[in-house]
Amino acid sequence: MPAPPTPLPQDGYGSPSRIYADANQKLGAEWYDYDQLTIAWGTQDQYEITKRLGRGKYSEVFEGIDTANDKFVVVKVLKPIKKKKVKRELKVLMNLRGGENIIELLDVVRDPQSKTPAIVFEHVNNLDSKILYPKFTDGDVRYYMYELLKALDFCHSKGIVHRDVKPLNILFDYGTSKLRLIDWGLAEFYHPGVELNVRVASRYYKGPELLVEYTHYDYSLDLWSVGCTFGSMIFKKDPLFRGQDNYDQLVKIAKVLGTDELYAYVDKYEIHLDPEYDSLLGTHTKKSWSRFIASDNQRYMSNEAIDLLDRLLRYDHRERLTAQEAMQHPYFEGVRRADAQRQQEKVAAAKSNGQAPTTATFASEDGQVEVTVLDG
Ligand code: AMP
Repeated sequence: MPAPPTPLPQDGYGSPSRIYADANQKLGAEWYDYDQLTIAWGTQDQYEITKRLGRGKYSEVFEGIDTANDKFVVVKVLKPIKKKKVKRELKVLMNLRGGENIIELLDVVRDPQSKTPAIVFEHVNNLDSKILYPKFTDGDVRYYMYELLKALDFCHSKGIVHRDVKPLNILFDYGTSKLRLIDWGLAEFYHPGVELNVRVASRYYKGPELLVEYTHYDYSLDLWSVGCTFGSMIFKKDPLFRGQDNYDQLVKIAKVLGTDELYAYVDKYEIHLDPEYDSLLGTHTKKSWSRFIASDNQRYMSNEAIDLLDRLLRYDHRERLTAQEAMQHPYFEGVRRADAQRQQEKVAAAKSNGQAPTTATFASEDGQVEVTVLDG
């Protein structure tokens, strides 16, 4: 008789994500097996580069014009990286295309001579977060966070972890309030029980699971990074945790969340802490977030803001709010109402233009509701 399959542990070492654990299994290999992707490369002739926007570890990003329609685009020229990584980024972008607040993939092109691949994206009239965040009212912060959570709930529901959430990767057009989550170069498909690389995300936004080298992490990693982004906005402290290196990053976190709580976390998941930490961690009690309240950040303060932050920044990744749970938090009550109103107005406007409505489900104040939306 064949041995029964070993059930995955539910609340300890290697336990699967609380949500969307079987998303990829349901969507099938065609969805997640990015190695099988064959890329139909277009040519670059259609795009004219106008200026450079930035240079990263893996790419150089330019602003350009699509001469076919005279529209601004962004061209991300990839540096020589493994083919597999290029395929992963493209498969993720293709799978997520059309998702709310996900940067739209427009084209994939290659220089005929050098064979250098480049990805063409929709252009966002972005304002640098260092200029943007200080402009924000309390209402702006709530709106921005809610829109970010929409993007994350969408990618998580599709079995994908972003793994590099940070202000630089959240584009925001202040004029139109359009938010887009960009840079899917580190994104990965989540499969319960499959180990993931802990050398991801940018230091200040790395979750404790990465810093203690726990490889069975999941979508909840992104919610830690969301917490760091949120905390830096509401406390006007950029970044929230400024580690000098990866070890120091965990020390900075432990100084606020406490060392006893850190040890409880590593014990629960049977994680062996790098002995290097013995001399670095010290002993620290858990601090109340209210101690970060100062005269220059009071306008963002409320019990709800502090409560939301507290529920995002938990060592235990299984305790953190999921994107959808966070969207249901009382902090977003007003934003949810305004969002529902906008959807209704869209439906009414389109109806009066003679478009046929259909129904869809989305998050409301009271949980999931069925609403009327429009095709396309
Ligand atoms: P990345 O290497 O993808 O993080 O992009 C580098 C920089 O280019 C970003 O920090 C943005 O400032 C800018 N950028 C990337 N994509 C876009 C876009 N679609 N629209 C406008 N700016 C972008």
